[in-house]
Amino acid sequence: MNAVSQPDSVVADVLAIAAHRDDVEQTCGGTLLRMASRGLSTAILDLTQGEAGTRGSAESRAREAAEAAHLLGVGWRQALDLPDGAVENTLENRLKIVRVLRLLRPRVVILPYGRARHPDHAAVAALGYQACFLSGLAKAPAVRPTTPSAAPAVRPTTPSAAPAVRPTAPSAPTDLDEAREAEAEAPPFRPFKIVYASLYANVRPSFIVDITPFIEQRHAALMAYRSQYADQSAGGGLFVPEEEIRERTFAEARHYGLLAGVRYGEPFVQKEVGLVDDLTLVPVQSI
Ligand SMILES: [Zn+2]
Repeated sequence: MNAVSQPDSVVADVLAIAAHRDDVEQTCGGTLLRMASRGLSTAILDLTQGEAGTRGSAESRAREAAEAAHLLGVGWRQALDLPDGAVENTLENRLKIVRVLRLLRPRVVILPYGRARHPDHAAVAALGYQACFLSGLAKAPAVRPTTPSAAPAVRPTTPSAAPAVRPTAPSAPTDLDEAREAEAEAPPFRPFKIVYASLYANVRPSFIVDITPFIEQRHAALMAYRSQYADQSAGGGLFVPEEEIRERTFAEARHYGLLAGVRYGEPFVQKEVGLVDDLTLVPVQSI
């Protein structure tokens, strides 16, 4: 399928945008698994490549991200080239995200919650929201890549059920130019819904997604980042052992699950109010 030539087709129902490879696995990986289990197509856009990390390299993290995407049933994953540790909400960066939004045309975009310890996470919340807005403007500034070589595309190792957008091979410069022209001319698009993954924020969630059936698979996806999480000596003072990561992430999921009366959950904040059609179908027991 050549999605570039069919800009009107929806090629991702849900797109998660995050600062760092492995952010999605920690904050909304179970939700992506649940969406995929419902037959929805999912995608991940990482904005940085992890070059500033204490452990591993951008290359090793790219391989690990591809494996994690496969484990999450994600059909499309790419990393942009924003500087790791210095993500800023600039027009240039917003336009890089607009290109992806117009290509994938997701109904739902997941962003990190804005109040965050890591400055990159806070920046992505504002950057992503403003990119979603800009993407809907017919007269947005020219949406063209500023550098000739895009970040390396990360493909899952085997095809997933979700419709995938195949990044153009870098070895085909003519096709690449044509693809970029098509992307630049993609019509304006704005996602219907933006939600904020709030796992690490001290904020009351708007809703919880029940990830109980997917908690082990989510953990496997996080552990795919062996350069970050496998027990090793480098950075031992900064990183917690693998067993503690399991205990911590399961405890967090259990906490948020309890808020909604399920075993394991992931929390989200939405800025809009909820809308109810039938009071008898509103979930989560009161007493
Ligand atoms: Zn992060």
